[in-house]
Amino acid sequence: MPTDEPKPILLSPPHLSGAERHFVDEAFRTNWIAPLGPNVDAFERELAARLSSAGAEIHCCATASGTAAIHLGLIALGVGPGDLVLCSSFTFVATANPIRQLGAEPVFIDSDDASWNMSPAALRRALHGLAAEGRRPRAVITVDLYGQGCDYGAILPICEEWNIPILEDAAEALGATVDGRPCGSFGAVSAFSFNGNKIITTSGGGMLAAPDARIAERARFLATQARDPAPHYEHSVAGFNYRMSNICAGVGRGQLLVLDERVARRREIFAEYRRALGGLDGVEFMPEPAWSRSTHWLTALTIDPARAGASRDALLTALAAERIEARPTWKPMHLQPLFAGCRMFAHDEGRAPVCERLFRDGVCLPSGSSMGDADLARVIDACERALAPARPAHGAAASIAAARSV
Ligand SMILES: *Cc1c(COP(=O)(O)O)cnc(C)c1O
Repeated sequence: MPTDEPKPILLSPPHLSGAERHFVDEAFRTNWIAPLGPNVDAFERELAARLSSAGAEIHCCATASGTAAIHLGLIALGVGPGDLVLCSSFTFVATANPIRQLGAEPVFIDSDDASWNMSPAALRRALHGLAAEGRRPRAVITVDLYGQGCDYGAILPICEEWNIPILEDAAEALGATVDGRPCGSFGAVSAFSFNGNKIITTSGGGMLAAPDARIAERARFLATQARDPAPHYEHSVAGFNYRMSNICAGVGRGQLLVLDERVARRREIFAEYRRALGGLDGVEFMPEPAWSRSTHWLTALTIDPARAGASRDALLTALAAERIEARPTWKPMHLQPLFAGCRMFAHDEGRAPVCERLFRDGVCLPSGSSMGDADLARVIDACERALAPARPAHGAAASIAAARSV
């Protein structure tokens, strides 16, 4: 075995606090080893408290995954066979799969340059265009990408005007705010994910959140095999086995205690990348509009191959050679073979969709909150060597140390 191989730097590995053990041990001690129990109830209450504000209470239902929460949320909004659902194109496939699985048809919406999230202009055009055909979507799925909320100041009034409910996919945005209000509190239903790569994890799990207690209640009913109230097993609708286990919820409770620290570190990592690389030709970081406080779950940027020293793919290859895990940004849903033939409304009518460029040139850099400054410097140095080969190496490690000491 060669010993001089650098250790791998991962994109977004789990980062435990130590406090998880207390809640998990409690589950073992009390034999609550089931998809229900005190940790599940407490995790729901604790997350709901974070999302609620004065006069706007949020109710939560813990699920086996973020995808399950999206699936249940669409059902709660009445989505069924033949319905249209508007959905942000620039996202992970788990956002859109449940639409199809319910027999509904997705119509994809482009991003805007300002937020990389759903373009209010494209949303409005889609609603008008479909109305002209006599069609009215059953729901709109917004996605708060890479830790940043959507432009809800523009999107909420549009959906209110058309009276169409929002399902907010906040899987990547726990801890973020828009206009000071928490992501995951904007939808009639919202979904979070606690997959191992998210800002906090339960090893695997999700949460459905809703301002209407009846929606959370309905989700809880459907997620536990839709058992009607009766002494025997009585069922009048088809449910799911979608609840979170009491052990996973224990991990989640320990993680929730350190959420603010995790957000702070991810924001620090983003700021450091931008400070070191933001001045390079052709490099542009995901913008953070004035109304947004992103968690920067993943640091995302675009590389203009005409101006930068390397293309996005050349950068990925260079990083992989140094055992640094970076990834292309999400491939838009309207470009996926899975959704071939689905419609797409672009930000600028008659021009290439914004999200196609964000995918073609986009890259996510290692952003885990457990990443230390030395690893961060290693990634920055590798990026500089790939993107600005003519420039003398800075030694990012030294410059981070210097920036910190002032
Ligand atoms: C991770 C993720 C999901 C799915 O969550 P799981 O818990 O993995 O099922 C859904 N949407 C987005 C945008 C995600 O990033």
